[in-house]
Amino acid sequence: KDMARTVRDYIRTIPDFPEPGIMFRDVTTLFSDPRGFRIAIDQLLHPYAGMEIDKVVGLEARGFILGGAVAHQLSTGFVPIRKKGKLPGQTIEQPYQLEYGEAVMELHDDALEPGETVLLVDDLLATGGTAEAGIKLIERLGAQCIGCAFVIDLPDLGGRAKLEALGQQVHALCA
Ligand code: 5GP
Repeated sequence: KDMARTVRDYIRTIPDFPEPGIMFRDVTTLFSDPRGFRIAIDQLLHPYAGMEIDKVVGLEARGFILGGAVAHQLSTGFVPIRKKGKLPGQTIEQPYQLEYGEAVMELHDDALEPGETVLLVDDLLATGGTAEAGIKLIERLGAQCIGCAFVIDLPDLGGRAKLEALGQQVHALCA
């Protein structure tokens, strides 16, 4: 029975988090299960096997957990994109829209070299605003984002369409 469990089966939905009406997809139960975490990482990197990838970029915070494991498996370096004020070195900043208001993501200005190929990793794609900010930061350093990999895509929120309109290849494991 357990062998038939898919990635989706390890994710739980918590109602009314972080506010009433939101159905939050909780991936901590995927990460904490040895088989769940392994199949998620294996499936995330599957399309990129044999591709030339210089760096895996993870989006704060769950993208660090996934991206670190993917980078290790692909034998690439790992680069974090963080919320403003967390990275210690010189950064470039990219504002993006939240449901209410605006936030800013940052990338160390020397974290990627022009021409490097990058795989962007995060846990969940909703409106695509966070990933779009990440792609812009990567491209502003002259690197090329060759794929965006997510565990969950919430297709009704339009993120996949937004990223594909930017010319990106989107890979997601479940809806
Ligand atoms: P977007 O910018 O695509 O609207 O939102 C995606 C970002 O918000 C991701 O960084 C993701 O981690 C976070 N996020 C939004 N909703 C959820 C959710 O229900 N579960 C999890 N795990 N992350 C979420």
